[in-house]
Amino acid sequence: GATIGILGGGQLGRMLSVAAARLGFKTCILEPAGDCPASHVANFHLQAGYDDTAALTRFAESCDVVTYEFENIPTAALDTIEALRPIHPPRRALATSQDRLTEKTFLQSLGLTVAPFADVTDAASLDVAIARIGTPAILKTRRMGYDGKGQARIMTPGDAAAALTAMNGQPAVLEGFVDFTHEVSVIAARGQDGAVACFDPGQNVHEDGILRTTTVPALLTPTQRTDAILIAARVLNALDYVGVLGVELFVTPQALIVNEIAPRVHNSGHWTQNGCAVDQFEQHIRAVAGWPLGDGSRHSNVVMENLIGADMDRVPQIAATSASLHLYGKPEARPGRKMGHVNRVTGPAT
Ligand code: ATP
Ligand code: MG
Ligand code: MG
Repeated sequence: GATIGILGGGQLGRMLSVAAARLGFKTCILEPAGDCPASHVANFHLQAGYDDTAALTRFAESCDVVTYEFENIPTAALDTIEALRPIHPPRRALATSQDRLTEKTFLQSLGLTVAPFADVTDAASLDVAIARIGTPAILKTRRMGYDGKGQARIMTPGDAAAALTAMNGQPAVLEGFVDFTHEVSVIAARGQDGAVACFDPGQNVHEDGILRTTTVPALLTPTQRTDAILIAARVLNALDYVGVLGVELFVTPQALIVNEIAPRVHNSGHWTQNGCAVDQFEQHIRAVAGWPLGDGSRHSNVVMENLIGADMDRVPQIAATSASLHLYGKPEARPGRKMGHVNRVTGPAT
């Protein structure tokens, strides 16, 4: 059988490996850490850094096709791999989503609505940005941020200096604060034949910048639901995308505002494991392998809850219910660390 290479060995790589195995594929992960979630289930684990050209070459040669579970892969590593094997989703999707400034500019060029934003490199450009965008606003590092890390809120212009210090000298973007009623995301897939299939939008609640729960169905009018799916499809087509993509949206009475895109399976799509015949992980493997996309229609209402840090103490109680537990096998339940999630089916799809 064919072997699918996965860059990154976290929980997303783990669940991709499980889905791949179910379809008869082998998986090989490349991940510098030894005891990582995906290493417990992948067929092969190449333990090396993303700057190790010899290891990258061996990795690529041992796979038929390569995908990834995180965005921040160094460009040079991708160059090495792409010279040997196809990479899905495409490089352009990675380059676009790795940098918040490139990402927002791209989204705007598609005619989509994003929060007002401005490039910030120093105190002077931050002053100019605040004068234009106003407060409250959020300063975010352009690169490497996740789970709300690398962000500082600017409630009044007096907060500017502290926010800039929090960026640690990294280039940043200032974003106007969006007064949203709630947040939703669309998990969307595109196959190698150009077919598009979107999962039903989920409604997301964040706590301290980290996703806490996703609920389906989301609170959306039929028109908003269609618009959300059209936004995701537009992004997929524009990037000539292959694989699963997450699109995070802010809902306001006036518009759906695109927050960010993630060129991979997405935490807010974990509900699909217990809400659809084909979940986001299988859908991604199908796309990457050149298969037709599967049936991602939603058969149930589901609430997904992340188990973060000390939430693990509740696992024995949860295990005694009919909820579906998904644990990542991480050795240590540190604060803020995603240890697993639980899907609760709340009824047939409405
Ligand atoms: P992820 O783990 O989703 O990649 P991230 O670190 O890239 O997170 P964002 O998605 O940019 O961070 O922001 C995290 C959360 O902070 C958002 O889901 C939203 O709740 C809030 N937030 C971010 N930007 C804004 C904004 N411009 N206006 C209002 N709230 C915001
Ligand atoms: Mg992000
Ligand atoms: Mg986000």
